[in-house]
Amino acid sequence: MINSVEAAAKILLRSKYIIALTGSGISAESGIPTFRGKDGLWSKYKPEELATPYAFARNPKLVWEWYSWRMKLIKEAKPNPAHITLAKLQNMRIIKTLITQNIDDLHERAGSRDIIKLHGDIFTVRCINCIFTQKLTNPPIEIPPKCPRCGAYLRPDVVWFGESLSPEIINKAFIEAEKADAILVIGTSGVVMPAGLIPKVVKDNGGKVIEINIEETVITSYADLFLKSKAGEILPKIFEKIMEIRRSRHV
Ligand code: NAD
Ligand code: ZN
Repeated sequence: MINSVEAAAKILLRSKYIIALTGSGISAESGIPTFRGKDGLWSKYKPEELATPYAFARNPKLVWEWYSWRMKLIKEAKPNPAHITLAKLQNMRIIKTLITQNIDDLHERAGSRDIIKLHGDIFTVRCINCIFTQKLTNPPIEIPPKCPRCGAYLRPDVVWFGESLSPEIINKAFIEAEKADAILVIGTSGVVMPAGLIPKVVKDNGGKVIEINIEETVITSYADLFLKSKAGEILPKIFEKIMEIRRSRHV
């Protein structure tokens, strides 16, 4: 009997233009909490109440304390086998484009290139008043940090709840979705829009949707294949299966 790892490998080997969409679940095994999980110290705050322009206007210090804590966690974290496998698949041109909702840098550090980062980057800050922007390597020392040009507050260059995504970036993602005949959807609840629509575009165009998640999501109902697993455990197995099938074809 064909198992789901083999089924996934076979779909991927049959497809010509595979893309991947990742969410915070792919970084969970690296120790970075997802929004829909328990955050210890921060669990009394809802991310929806901290990652908003309103929260920042009301209490920039609190919002920055939360972001500094997240920056520190991300800096100390390491890419896990899921990030590494995706980077390998991308470098082998099996995956053509990687789209992520994550604001961490674990895909980059695993070796992925040209990532479409829908929700920005936690290590980039920008002024709320002028055009100043800067890439940080550490959390800011002074909180909330101020713009060296005009003195206004700096904010993380990420998309907050209630804000729009860059039209240029979202267009790029949807163009890739239109081209794709298969998508790997990994560790996303699929409820954050418009990112959650990307797999649906692939499906509506007749492409295959392979979902990897530890629980069912809104995407599962239309996925062609659902692998109920941890990303870091199942992706290397799919990769090995692809290599095994390729080798068997060349003997
Ligand atoms: P989410 O928190 O809504 O959902 C995470 C999903 O990952 C869940 O469906 C969960 O079942 C699944 N999951 C958890 N552990 C997993 C594992 N080991 N393997 C596979 N799946 C696993 O996250 P989202 O859909 O990405 O959207 C929420 C928003 O939160 C995004 O906009 C994102 O920018 C932001 N966010 C980013 C980070 C990060 O950059 N690492 C972390 C938290 C939140
Ligand atoms: Zn400024």
